Amino acid sequence: MAEIRLKNVSKRWHNFVGVDNFNLDIADQEFLVLLGPSGCGKTTTMRMIAGLEDISEGEIWLGDRMVNRLEPKDRDISMVFQSYGLYPNMTVYENIRFPLRVRKVPKALHHEKVMQAARMVELTDFLERRPAALSGGQRQRVALGRAIVRQPSVFLMDEPLSNLDAKLRVSTRAQIKNLQHTLKVTTIYVTHDQIEAMTLADRVVVMNKGVIQQVGTPTEIYDNPANTFVASFIGSPAMNLVSGDIENGTFRGPGITIPGLQTDVKGSVTLGFRAEDASLISEGGELGAAIYSMELLGEATMASFRLGDQLVSIKSGKEYRAEIGDVVHAAIPASICHLFDARTGVRIA
Ligand code: ATP
Repeated sequence: MAEIRLKNVSKRWHNFVGVDNFNLDIADQEFLVLLGPSGCGKTTTMRMIAGLEDISEGEIWLGDRMVNRLEPKDRDISMVFQSYGLYPNMTVYENIRFPLRVRKVPKALHHEKVMQAARMVELTDFLERRPAALSGGQRQRVALGRAIVRQPSVFLMDEPLSNLDAKLRVSTRAQIKNLQHTLKVTTIYVTHDQIEAMTLADRVVVMNKGVIQQVGTPTEIYDNPANTFVASFIGSPAMNLVSGDIENGTFRGPGITIPGLQTDVKGSVTLGFRAEDASLISEGGELGAAIYSMELLGEATMASFRLGDQLVSIKSGKEYRAEIGDVVHAAIPASICHLFDARTGVRIA
């Protein structure tokens, strides 16, 4: 069993707090994604789990062992980095075999294990090449092969796709998902790319400035963001956020009036709604404004509007056509709206 438990884990350097009181239980075989902007503490959290970074406070448990003082090599964890970390003088075969040698796995087992890993990452035709003679995608597959060869109880992956081009990223992403499903290894995956997080994760941990903002399944985080930070980080486009005032269940903001909100909240709020939940209509509705820009997305059309200093996007069918400057209307029913505290950003309804 490879459950991982982080209890009140913090990392400080002098006065700077890199990770602040991180608490989380990761289930055996779970695919957990740490997501957040640059500098939010994702890599530090992962390095503490791997044992590459001392922790300032708290406890890390792998299964029933508290591992705070355990050397990285004794933690039964394999890591995959953005930079691949391959040995340039070794062939693909030797790179994949390396962890077996380090861990003194009996030599008689090496060939079978290397070939099995190489088959899983589709590298059997490249075993005699050195890394310099491989493409970026092939190098990343060697790094994956090296991580899976000794069947660890935990995989840690730090932005493993970020050096690949967009197309390769999509296919390698699918391969990682498939490998994790097949091998059933508890995986912690770090990324700042919310699409990667949404497509790979069983659960996502959204972090900002060293602090967990929300933990949930991709759907929970998308449908019910805990605060405006999460709302503005998840989704493409991110959730529309509009400042305004609410009284007697009616929200009023620049160019937008939404009655019928089921809440007793009064005063300044931030209203949120997703581009695909609203719709463009010929007249009436909750919003009437001039189109600021139009984007053809292939499967849909995106119209955006400037409301005060905020840009709001609304998705429409791929046949929808209008020009920049045309005044159009939108239906934004109360049932699709989220409300956040104007000061703290915390969700209130
Ligand atoms: P990125 O996506 O850019 O890799 P991240 O979310 O992984 O970012 P971390 O690398 O965990 O962020 O860094 C978290 C914070 O801790 C950053 O502000 C970073 O500058 C700081 N930090 C990291 N290592 C050290 C160190 N050795 N000394 C002081 N501060 C550090």
